[in-house]
Amino acid sequence: MGLESDTSENTHALPAKSANLVQRAALKKADAITRVEKPWTIEQSEELYRIKGWGEPYYSINALGHVTVSPKGDRGGSLDLYELIEALRRRNLGLPLVIRFSDILEDRIERLNACFARAIARYNYGGVYRGVFPVKCNQHRHLVEDLVRFGAPHQFGLEAGSKPELMIALAALTTPGALLICNGYKDREYVETAILASRLGKTSIIVIEQVEEVQMVIDASRKLGIEPVVGVRAKLSTKGSGRWGCSTGDRAKFGLTIPEMMAAVEKLSEAGLLNCLQLLHFHIGSQISSISVIKDAIREASQIYVELLKLGANMKYLDVGGGLAVDYDGSKSKYHASKNYNMQNYANDIVAEVKEACEERSMPVPTLISESGRAIASHQSVLVFDVLGVSDVSTGTPPEVTEKEHLILRNLYETYQSIALLNYQEAYHDAIQFKEEAISLFNFGYLSLPERAKAERLYWACCAKIREILRLQNYVPDELEDLERTMASIYYVNLSVFQSAPDSWAIDQLFPIMPVHRLDEEPTERATLADLTCDSDGKIDQFIDLQATKPVLEVHPLKPDKPYYLAMFLGGAYQEIMGNLHNLFGDTNAVHIKLTPTGYQIEHVVKGDTMTQVMNYVEYDPEDLIESMRQQTEQALQDKRITIEESQLLLQNYERGLTGYTYLSS
Ligand SMILES: *Cc1c(COP(=O)(O)O)cnc(C)c1O
Repeated sequence: MGLESDTSENTHALPAKSANLVQRAALKKADAITRVEKPWTIEQSEELYRIKGWGEPYYSINALGHVTVSPKGDRGGSLDLYELIEALRRRNLGLPLVIRFSDILEDRIERLNACFARAIARYNYGGVYRGVFPVKCNQHRHLVEDLVRFGAPHQFGLEAGSKPELMIALAALTTPGALLICNGYKDREYVETAILASRLGKTSIIVIEQVEEVQMVIDASRKLGIEPVVGVRAKLSTKGSGRWGCSTGDRAKFGLTIPEMMAAVEKLSEAGLLNCLQLLHFHIGSQISSISVIKDAIREASQIYVELLKLGANMKYLDVGGGLAVDYDGSKSKYHASKNYNMQNYANDIVAEVKEACEERSMPVPTLISESGRAIASHQSVLVFDVLGVSDVSTGTPPEVTEKEHLILRNLYETYQSIALLNYQEAYHDAIQFKEEAISLFNFGYLSLPERAKAERLYWACCAKIREILRLQNYVPDELEDLERTMASIYYVNLSVFQSAPDSWAIDQLFPIMPVHRLDEEPTERATLADLTCDSDGKIDQFIDLQATKPVLEVHPLKPDKPYYLAMFLGGAYQEIMGNLHNLFGDTNAVHIKLTPTGYQIEHVVKGDTMTQVMNYVEYDPEDLIESMRQQTEQALQDKRITIEESQLLLQNYERGLTGYTYLSS
């Protein structure tokens, strides 16, 4: 029990007179709070939605109360997100909509390379940094192409984790000298393709992740007469943390244990290919929140690297994998949705640790590789969606109750009227008890349906009045903690969580979500979000808070005939690709926006799935569907169950529906 709830309980035990004084003082305070209430400011919105924490330097709020985007970070130029959405809608691009800012992608790549360049200069490191982007993080063609183009000055490469990704990477990566890291499960075809790629001038490196792959590489090399560049992935003993922490340790899916690595070295040596072994790779998991975990891993890997050199391998590269985290809640902490370090700390620690390990043994330092996906791709995309409707408990003025009405209704009404600062906790328990009694009475036939409706309305009116007091005094006793949640409205959003935020559904990942406009207005409603799918899991009821989650999001009351836009941020990694066809809502519309000196330019529009495409995925032929509908209306016409006008309207809507966007148009 906190101090405050202790004091509030004590007040009940005070003698009447002083209790009265306390009550008056408290009421005065509450009164004062209401009176001096200042207009809501955008600074309050900034704080509430924590946009500075997770959004800087790309997202902020402007004087109009709209979210603005500064795609080039600190380098100038910004866009009003609300205006942009309106402009895109005028171009007939329906919501939900993914907006990708290619300038942000460029900025992320620049930053990562700049951080490593600074660290290399600072520690006087004798090697270079050659980053790669893991394609699995976001495989969309325009994004991968942009990435290769923006990364070219830094010889930024790609990482493939599967055969299809290798196909993409081979075609997309044209930068001379950039690395093509080949990870994942491999078959003969994968290995041969990766080796042959060197004939096209690519620096492809085959990373051995499973014991069987050693022989595969040896065979392919003999068959093709080409000496490949080979790496090994180590299973470190350092454990990652957080929900992706299982990529490491003895039970990890990928990587060689130290005895397996020794066997691989021997096998390559026997085959005369030890000089091909040039890279050590590890990946301890994604979203590593704590820098100390990263340091431990680097230290262990550096030692393995040096030892491989000592064993006669021709080591040149150390690949530290992914893991560079994103601060989703803006708390700069080691909470799983955050990170307690920045990109520069990350680069510094890698460079310093590797240098130290190599210097101690007088060994040459490696070219450093990182496979940062999340840290590069998350910020560039914003998912915008609109609210279609709301369902809330009726909290308006409660119905009058007369002397003649049922006792239970009179009790509830009295409770409602008595609620004040001093007795609200007691009143809350009374209200709950009376409501439960009312339901029992109804179940036994003593209360009519209109009476039960009245009882429920009175109950919610009590809750609303109590909530008002809680908000004013800015303090919530433990037992009332659930009140906001139970009273929360449900905002129905034009979205499929399964499609657009799969991690939010599957692993409770947190993403910052906030209104795009009206941020100069106080968000007086508390809501959870429910999506369009009829699945009860299709909801979002956890929102970022400071190193914690909150069950409701502060939102504005809807205005009739006015759209209300929400946006989910930092979803550019992993979310855009894992989406599925739950309830047959397909892919969303996407646009690529680039800043120009005078404004912005729409580089690409990628239309979301139409109903027809989605139907095709599950093997329905739209022609057959239409034909079936035509036959059924024809029969209904014959039977005079439908007019010719009605049948035409039905068929037209049906056909139009099949060619349209799967989401709702408003
Ligand atoms: C997923 C993955 C990455 C990307 O990790 P991030 O944390 O997104 O940077 C890098 N390397 C490998 C081997 C991976 O499996």
